[in-house]
Amino acid sequence: MSAAKAMRLKAPCDSSEFANQKSFEALQQVAARYAVAITPAVAAMIDAADPHDPIARQFVPDVRELEHLPEENADPIGDDAHSPVEGVVHRYPDRVLLKLVNACAVYCRFCFRREMVGPGRGGLSRDALAAALDYIARTPGIWEVILTGGDPLVLSPRRLKDVMTRLAAIDHVKVIRVHTRVPAVAPERISPALVKALRTKKATFVVLHANHARELTEPARAACARFIDAGIPMLAQSVLLRGVNDDAETLGALMRALVECRIKPYYLHHTDLAPGTAHFRTTIAEGQELMRQLRGRNSGLCQPSYVLDVPGGYGKSPVGPNYLSDDCSVVEDFRGRRHAYPPRQKGCR
Ligand code: SF4
Repeated sequence: MSAAKAMRLKAPCDSSEFANQKSFEALQQVAARYAVAITPAVAAMIDAADPHDPIARQFVPDVRELEHLPEENADPIGDDAHSPVEGVVHRYPDRVLLKLVNACAVYCRFCFRREMVGPGRGGLSRDALAAALDYIARTPGIWEVILTGGDPLVLSPRRLKDVMTRLAAIDHVKVIRVHTRVPAVAPERISPALVKALRTKKATFVVLHANHARELTEPARAACARFIDAGIPMLAQSVLLRGVNDDAETLGALMRALVECRIKPYYLHHTDLAPGTAHFRTTIAEGQELMRQLRGRNSGLCQPSYVLDVPGGYGKSPVGPNYLSDDCSVVEDFRGRRHAYPPRQKGCR
C-alpha cells in the first residue's frame, strides 16, 4: 500500500463508532479493487475542512465505488474491440492511441480505464512497443498518434524521448498528442529534460486533464508554461463530474483558468459507464443545460465540445446542445432567444 493510501485509510480511532468501522472496511474493499494514489501536490490542494471538497472527491476513495450498475462496463469505451496489437487502439481511420504504461501519478475515482490502470500493472515491453510502432509504420492512414495510458508522463524523459524519436521517424505520422494529468498533479515532473523529450520535428500537443480551476495551482501553471514556451501547444479535456464541476460558475471558472494559462478547452466528457462511478454521472440533459449556460456567459475560447463516448467502442459523439430546429427554420441565440431563419437558404432543407 502506498504512503498516500495508508494515510487515507487510517482506521477510525473512536472504537465506539461502529458505522465508521464499517465504512473503513468498505473503503478497504474499494482500495483492494481500484488503485489509490494521491500526490503531495494534490494533497496540498485538498481542503480537509470541507466534506464536499471537489479535489478530494476526485481522488479519495468512496464506498459508492462498490455499487456497480448493470449498464456499467469494465471497458466502457470499447478499447479492446479496436486493438490490433498490444498497446494500440485503432478506432478512427486517421489516428491511434498508443498506451505506453498502465500507471498514473494519481488514480481518479471516475477513471474510464480503472480496471486496467494501477501500480504494478506495467506497460508495454520492449518487444510489444516494437510491434506497436511497426503497426503504426505499416499503416499509412495513421496521421496522428495519441500517447495515453495510464499517464505517459510518469515515464522518464529518456523513455519518452525514445518513443517520440521513433514515432517522428515515421513519415506519415504528422501529429503526436500526449494525454496527461501530470502537469497539474505532479508539476515537478515537468522538467526541462522532459519538455525537451517531447520536442520533435512533428507537431506535438499536450492535452491536460483538469476538472476544477483549483487544480491550476501556481506550480501547475508554471509547468504548463514550460511546454507552451517551448513551442508545444496545450489543449485540455475535462470530465463533467457531479459534485466537482456540475454548475455553470465552477465549470466557467475552470474554462477561464485554462484559457488564461494559454490552454484551449477541447473536450468536456460525459462521465463514462465505468464500474462504480454512478455517483459522478450527471444526466446528458444536465450537461446540455450547463453547456448552454457556458455559451451564454463565457468567451468562445472557453467552449469545449461536450462529447459522449458511445458505449461499445463506436467513438465520440458531440451531444449538444443543439441550437437549430430540425427543419433549420428556427435558431436559438446565446441568451436562449429563438429566431426564424429564412427558408430555402443554402444548407437548409
Ligand atoms: S490520470 Fe487518466 S488514466 Fe489515470 S486514473 Fe486518472 S483518468 Fe484514469
